[in-house]
Amino acid sequence: MIMSKSMKINTPRDLPPVDEVMRDEKLADALQRHGHAMVLRAVRNALDEARETLLMKSDAVTTSTLSYSVDDLIRKALDKLELWSTPLIQHVINATGAILHSNLGRAPLASVAAEAAYNAGRRYTTLEYNLEEGARGERTAAVEILLQRLASVESALVVNNNAAAVLLILATLARGREVVVSRGELVEIGGSFRIPEIMEESGAMLREIGTTNKTHPDDYLRAIGDETAAILKVNRSNFRIEGFTEDVALDKLATIAHQHGLPLIYDLGSGCLSRELHGLIREEPLVLDAMATGADVICFSGDKLLGGPQSGIIVGRRRYIEAMRRHPLLRAFRCDKMTLAALEATLLLYLNPSRAHKEIPLLAMALADKDVLEKRVSSFVNALNEADVPASMYSESSIVGCGSAPGCKLATPVVAIDPSCAPRRSTPDELLRQLREEKPFVIARAGNGRVMLDLRTVFPEEEDTLLQRLLHILA
Ligand SMILES: *Cc1c(COP(=O)(O)O)cnc(C)c1O
Repeated sequence: MIMSKSMKINTPRDLPPVDEVMRDEKLADALQRHGHAMVLRAVRNALDEARETLLMKSDAVTTSTLSYSVDDLIRKALDKLELWSTPLIQHVINATGAILHSNLGRAPLASVAAEAAYNAGRRYTTLEYNLEEGARGERTAAVEILLQRLASVESALVVNNNAAAVLLILATLARGREVVVSRGELVEIGGSFRIPEIMEESGAMLREIGTTNKTHPDDYLRAIGDETAAILKVNRSNFRIEGFTEDVALDKLATIAHQHGLPLIYDLGSGCLSRELHGLIREEPLVLDAMATGADVICFSGDKLLGGPQSGIIVGRRRYIEAMRRHPLLRAFRCDKMTLAALEATLLLYLNPSRAHKEIPLLAMALADKDVLEKRVSSFVNALNEADVPASMYSESSIVGCGSAPGCKLATPVVAIDPSCAPRRSTPDELLRQLREEKPFVIARAGNGRVMLDLRTVFPEEEDTLLQRLLHILA
């Protein structure tokens, strides 16, 4: 039977064979682009789905809604190919005001850092090559020398993330022995990083002391014994304890540790290297200050307050760091070349703080000038109003996010849109959904019957795209 391509197929029996669909000239481009195997899979998939739907078709449903033409099948196959070949990691405009958004990839890289990663990725590099000697070089030497300078430390080591850093430190310095930790610092971060569990994996034994809200110097002194390998202090990054609280200050803790010949390990979590940023969010200590106060080994993430790529940075006394360098776990935790290139470029920016503040997005966003933000918001609001979309400027606050500085709110003007009175009406939830539906994807939040757009976390070059997207939906 010769069928026209647009003729409707109503029963599974009439579906064309795979080979016949594959010969259709509408698939020629797709065959070039995706290859025979992928196209075949898509066509089979489309045919299977059609067969299933036609089989399930009950008499109650009119045939017109559930029938297929060959063209329909091809369209379905092409849609599948499009979907399968589209990366799942897509650019989004972050209008939430959370500078480090755990679900949106934490810190965006400085352009020079992203370029360094790009170049390291697509060409050969001196990753482990010493040009001067024409021989093998040290993989992480460049980054470690920069860290030594920036944090005024004897030695540094870089691994995949801060969780790996904590595990490596404990496995190296305390396997089979005890580590003293305050109960107020037994934290869980991001749902999967828990101090007691990491401790167990490392082979070290947790010696909990004090209570959730109070830990005294005596608690530490009583716990220290022959089995003690180290004292661990953990920055309570994602929460605060308020009310009757007490913990032992870092300098006192260092004195106690050193009197007993123990290293003081400090899991700083965020790791702030910028004095200006520390001035803004006092609760996040400067790596430099923590070191000067007497910590022996400090670890922190590269993609939190540092504003670089995902990595775990360990700094501190040479003898401890050298022991970690020899630990077999280091090989399992090592960073990839793109990460190291991006981290090096980020740290190079820190050598000149004013450049760092301009070029590292995290610093630029956190330290953004209120007047500049107000100007941006007010012209955004005007542009919406001109298109009859009701919007105004609200006083709100942005957050650093990602467990950094949990108590810190950065006062921020935001664009507040009332979608219920726009030319094309919508509700706040509906608008948020629409913004997530099509490219460029936008993530925002709702409150008080409005959709709030915090321009602090929107890159200036994304602003017009964001505006056009809103006008397209609402005006
Ligand atoms: C974030 C954080 C970690 C985990 O760091 P990752 O880089 O996400 O592995 C560990 N400890 C503290 C205190 C943190 O804040």
